[in-house]
Amino acid sequence: MCYAIPGKVESVEAQMVVVDYFGEKKKARNELPNLAVGDYVYAQGGYVITKVSKQEAEESLSGWKELFFSLKDTDDQLVFFAPENSAVDRRVARIVKEVSQGKEISPDELKYLIQLSDESQLDILFKSANFLRHKYHGNACCVHGIIEISNNCRKQCGYCGISIYNRQLKRYRMSKPEIIAAVEEAVNKYGFKALILQSGEGAYSVAELADIIKQIKQDFSVLIFISFGEIGQQGLAELYQAGARGLLMRFETSNPDLYRKIHPGQELDSRLEEIRQAYQMGYLIITGALIGLPAQTDNDIINDILLARTLNAEMFSFGPFIAHAQTPLAAAVPPAEEKVLKVLAAARFAAAREAKILVTTGFETLSSRARQKGLVSGGNSVMLNVTPLRYRGFYAIYPNRAHESETVPEQIDETVKLLKSLGRAPTDLGVGVVKQKEASKL
Ligand code: SAH
Repeated sequence: MCYAIPGKVESVEAQMVVVDYFGEKKKARNELPNLAVGDYVYAQGGYVITKVSKQEAEESLSGWKELFFSLKDTDDQLVFFAPENSAVDRRVARIVKEVSQGKEISPDELKYLIQLSDESQLDILFKSANFLRHKYHGNACCVHGIIEISNNCRKQCGYCGISIYNRQLKRYRMSKPEIIAAVEEAVNKYGFKALILQSGEGAYSVAELADIIKQIKQDFSVLIFISFGEIGQQGLAELYQAGARGLLMRFETSNPDLYRKIHPGQELDSRLEEIRQAYQMGYLIITGALIGLPAQTDNDIINDILLARTLNAEMFSFGPFIAHAQTPLAAAVPPAEEKVLKVLAAARFAAAREAKILVTTGFETLSSRARQKGLVSGGNSVMLNVTPLRYRGFYAIYPNRAHESETVPEQIDETVKLLKSLGRAPTDLGVGVVKQKEASKL
């Protein structure tokens, strides 16, 4: 689990350390030399990112302490659900009980959850997913930043607005200095501790990406996720060597026939192989699928959820498919808000305990209440778009994306307000930002 509140190192054993946050102990992987018991660190996504001085740590901890416990109280009060007392749906109650005791959910049980439709049963489903989220993760919410560095793409994904099908789109490709400046702003000004760099496939060579990532790792303390499509095993190894530690790569659908239909000339297996190789190399994996693809069945969705677990996802990224006019799937109808929420909730039941569930921008585009609803139905992660505003509108994977024209401070403000109302600790936004700008309001 990740916290960007400074924590105190309690023990160091080989590459694993135990970090204390106001009495809560978390494990993190450490690659810093000379880390000792008693040092203060920022950890993120299970990695120690950087050391901080005792003075800086004590200052920000004093700003956090009261807030930390009051947010917890709010969250505790909102999770009033007691599954064993649920008279409404005995089967959901039994599944919650067994899952929370460590039993893996079966495909049949998942199907049962995905196909619930009665309002009171759905209410129980969402509340129980929230109960599991609270039980496994407490009130921490991950807030990663994403920078979309180029919309150039060589692929022909049938659903995607930046694929080569779209000849009307103005293309952009950020230069290395532009990327570094965007990272600097995100890390130093806004306090992000984890960033995803994303682009269409083939927009940069692996050597260019390695050079950019090396520079970022040299200049800033931040966890870097890559999301450039398929770059091959060698490419993954080079970017790991350069300092990347996470991969965001959705497999889009677990159904190989459907995959072939929407990705002409591509095979699902090759994408899966890449995700597996990345995991073997030590990358943290964010993966998932599109919900509402044409001809997708509930069984497909259940397999999608189970596949994300098998791929060792540390974060599940499941979002609605939203049709784009300049693609072959232009006429497709988006899924219902309720369907997406059911998938997020079911994912919480199926995921490994330590896995996070992302509330995607796609879902926020589908419904203005998505973030709030997703976060109380199993979700505990959001991504803020820190792509420079001059480019943001051109990363048009689907039309009218949420937050397309909001500045980063506006997004932070909105996120912090929502997290505060839900009693969640926005633990990946820098303490600097939260403390100076928001602590008085929180
Ligand atoms: N080149 C990278 C990034 C692709 S864009 C890669 O191959 O992984 C990032 C994600 O946007 C895709 O994985 C896809 O799931 C999502 N996406 C693309 N088009 C979309 C659409 N029309 N609706 C919803 N999500 C879409």
